[in-house]
Amino acid sequence: MNAHSLYIETYGCQMNVNDSQRIVAMLSDDRYQLVNSPVEADLILLNTCSVRGGAEEKVYNRLSNLCSLKKINKQLVIGVGGCVAQQEGEQLLERFPLVDLVFGTHTVHLLPGMLQDARHGIRRSETEFFDTEQRRDLFPATRGEGRGSQFVTVMQGCNNFCSYCIVPFVRGREVSRRAEDILEEIERLVAAGVVEVVLLGQNVNSYGIHQDGQPSFAQLLRQIAALDGLQRIRFTTSHPKDMSDELIACYADLPKLCSQVQLPAQAGSNAVLARMNRGYTREHYLDRINALKQARPGITITGDIIVGFPGETEADFEETMSLVEEVRYADVYSFAYSPRPGTRAADFTEELSKHEKQHRLARLIATQRNITLEINRSFLHTRQEILVEGIGKHPGQLSGRADSGKTVNFSGEPALIGHLVPVVITAAYQNSLVGELI
Ligand code: SAM
Ligand code: SF4
Repeated sequence: MNAHSLYIETYGCQMNVNDSQRIVAMLSDDRYQLVNSPVEADLILLNTCSVRGGAEEKVYNRLSNLCSLKKINKQLVIGVGGCVAQQEGEQLLERFPLVDLVFGTHTVHLLPGMLQDARHGIRRSETEFFDTEQRRDLFPATRGEGRGSQFVTVMQGCNNFCSYCIVPFVRGREVSRRAEDILEEIERLVAAGVVEVVLLGQNVNSYGIHQDGQPSFAQLLRQIAALDGLQRIRFTTSHPKDMSDELIACYADLPKLCSQVQLPAQAGSNAVLARMNRGYTREHYLDRINALKQARPGITITGDIIVGFPGETEADFEETMSLVEEVRYADVYSFAYSPRPGTRAADFTEELSKHEKQHRLARLIATQRNITLEINRSFLHTRQEILVEGIGKHPGQLSGRADSGKTVNFSGEPALIGHLVPVVITAAYQNSLVGELI
């Protein structure tokens, strides 16, 4: 069999990034080799995101663009996967006659068969949801590249149905992967030279809650931390309602757990949180943040905020601003509310104008930028252990991450990539730190 060339473009969250990594690993068994540009490929896959309207539009524009490559390469196969594919299914095949296949968030394992059919001119859309037990067997393992940091998916899906969010509709219900499979995968990655794992899930700290016989997420973390050779553990994303005392205690007890937590608040006003169906109050959220800061002094906190949710008053927005100042996030991923068809909030009538949403977003970003810079400057002259991830932007520079998750650039040899090295911080900017190897 001849080798094929695969180009894959990934949109959205780390779950999608990890899904793409697993697709690449799976297709390498069918002799697909990864290439860096769509013109070199005989298979193009788009792994898509539909969390906001803008992300979805981007996918459609890109797809129109890529389909034109079929004029110069008649053998080219184009496939669409991920959340837009799950949502649109067959309709994507109708809207884009040059797309050959559509696979959903639960049907990645069908891809090799769909590709064979596509080569015989059979266009398929497979977007069925698989039930819990079957799905636990369908988690393809990540294959480590033998160094550095590696994503490991521990759960998929979401049962929370926040009123604005499309994820439960396109990713299905929460399913936790078996603990023994996760531990076995991490052991294998560590043996291949991986030093850090990032545990992934839409609500990673709901791990095990809906499955008898599985450990809690905190127990899983303790089992993972006990693995020899593994040096760092991170996880994302956590839900504030499941940020238990048991989990927070891990930050006090497990030195391998990095000093960083991603805990999205979404809003600071209880009225908005209730309409968002988030399942916690501002007071509960701040209580969890304080407990985390006590368990691990200096912990870096990042979060997500949605501004301009339907009915958000100026007073509600001020409560979000005061929450941001009180938490002192190292970074906030902030978004203007985008109605998603099919979600409950899409029927809420008090939509804010685009102008008002953008105005509030700009105010939030400006406040957060100041806090981020202050926090970045607090690292000046400190010693940090950096996991070197790759080449930096400037010649001779390497780039890596501190325990806090901050990006640090410094001069060094590429042979250090994948290793932990000590660095002293010499400059602090808005988006990164600069250091010198000790
Ligand atoms: N599971 C995570 C949680 O509970 O926070 C978040 C997953 S979601 C894919 C990533 C982020 O997108 C959310 O935290 C939220 O801030 C944002 N988001 C989701 N739906 C949105 C919408 N309709 N409009 C704007 N932002 C949205
Ligand atoms: Fe979406 Fe809420 Fe589930 Fe996060 S918890 S994925 S925001 S529904």
